[in-house]
Amino acid sequence: MRAVLLGPPGAGKGTQAARLTERFGVPAISTGDIFRANVKGGTELGRKAQEYMNAGQLVPDEVTNAMVRARLAEDDAAAGFLLDGYPRNPEQAVELDSMLADLGVELDVAIEITADFDVVTERLLKRAEIEGRADDTEPVIRKRLEVYATSTAPLTAFYAGRGLLVQVDGLGEIDEVTERLVAAVAR
Ligand code: ADP
Repeated sequence: MRAVLLGPPGAGKGTQAARLTERFGVPAISTGDIFRANVKGGTELGRKAQEYMNAGQLVPDEVTNAMVRARLAEDDAAAGFLLDGYPRNPEQAVELDSMLADLGVELDVAIEITADFDVVTERLLKRAEIEGRADDTEPVIRKRLEVYATSTAPLTAFYAGRGLLVQVDGLGEIDEVTERLVAAVAR
């Protein structure tokens, strides 16, 4: 399976990606996780990404695209992958097409987890109390949702136009959502 996972911040992409990875035996590749690991490790990539992440803005495409291109070329992604958090704008989607063309493979499905902004804001504020992520503050959450609406939401139509989109309701129990996702992908 070669899939991208779409949906607003707080929709549960990371949680569900971890579960789908087990079901389908392909690696979950989360650009947010890779950036956070690099920030923590104090790498050059982390230094480049940090200020954008803390402001709720997208890390510049040239940085993100190069990182994803390198990751997709690794051995464990050869038989499939689940991309979580990439692409996040139309330019990245076009770049992903070029990466996959170079690898001689195609995307099977774009899965959108839907959830309304009030619900995700509440979830993210709750997560802030538990995990203390630097970007889970109210003003930054608002900015991330704005960036999502402007830059990322158009990807729904982009993938729908290619017949690749499946939409899954992200509200409800975590297990329930996982089963919906598995069913949607199997169609
Ligand atoms: P969320 O989806 O909850 O906002 P992520 O962990 O996916 O969280 O992303 C956190 C931050 O990492 C984003 O706000 C952004 O700054 C950066 N980031 C992640 N993926 C991308 C991407 N594809 N392009 C640019 N920046 C990204």
